[in-house]
Amino acid sequence: MARIDIHTHAFADKIASHALESIMSHMPEKYWTHFDGRLATLVSQLKAHSFDHAVLCQIATKPEHFAPIMAWSSAIRDGAFGEDAARMIVPLPSVHPADPDYVSRLGEVAKAGFKGVKLHPYFQRFILDEPHVLDYFRAVRDAGLFVEVHDGFDIGFPFDDFCGPRRILNVIENVPGLRFMVTHFGGWLAWEEASRILIGQPIDIEISMAIGFCEPAKIKEMLLRHPEDRLYFGSDWPWSDYDVTLPFLEECGLPPSRMAALMGGNAARWLGLPTP
Ligand SMILES: [Zn+2]
Repeated sequence: MARIDIHTHAFADKIASHALESIMSHMPEKYWTHFDGRLATLVSQLKAHSFDHAVLCQIATKPEHFAPIMAWSSAIRDGAFGEDAARMIVPLPSVHPADPDYVSRLGEVAKAGFKGVKLHPYFQRFILDEPHVLDYFRAVRDAGLFVEVHDGFDIGFPFDDFCGPRRILNVIENVPGLRFMVTHFGGWLAWEEASRILIGQPIDIEISMAIGFCEPAKIKEMLLRHPEDRLYFGSDWPWSDYDVTLPFLEECGLPPSRMAALMGGNAARWLGLPTP
């Protein structure tokens, strides 16, 4: 069975330390990562923990970041960072919702063979269900892409509701047919609301950054209650450690078919990857 991490981040060697420093300057020290955030480190971590693939989420914090992110995504895929990275890493480019050319840019992403785009409402400064963002999501759908979106609060920003569980539901209801990958169990540090209105529904949800932040019993309860074919393992590496998350999940003692679906079976289907 495939083992897939559907939510990671990594940076080119040249910018990794600067990128991490600038992100972490928003965060209290206890949330700082002890990994260096380099692509090569991610690949070696994946191999050490028997992962077949990882989705590499990128965030265009300004519209003009589209081109360099596309170039780096293509370089990874085409082997510029080695065969392991080319085989294992599934890059998601990012098209900023405020980019006036977002329709053609989404078309470029699809034409280049990438499967989706990643958004982060806090870093990109938008509210998830505002009308112009719903139009953006319609364009994502019409380009044949999926979207993976940061959901819930973010430690680096004030706790204003940009992308909480209720807004996720609004998007899903208003953009039928959109392939929407919800992150952080439906809402980081909004666990109770997410649990009440999203968990158990036919919604695709990955589980990153819950372990260590949400009550263990609550995590296990949500892992058992959500539809088995809609659950995805994500880490948000480098902000979590496989040596913590993987043993926790083993100890949850999920039924084997549910565990296999969570750890990669569902993601292989979502990404259209062959299951080894
Ligand atoms: Zn992330």
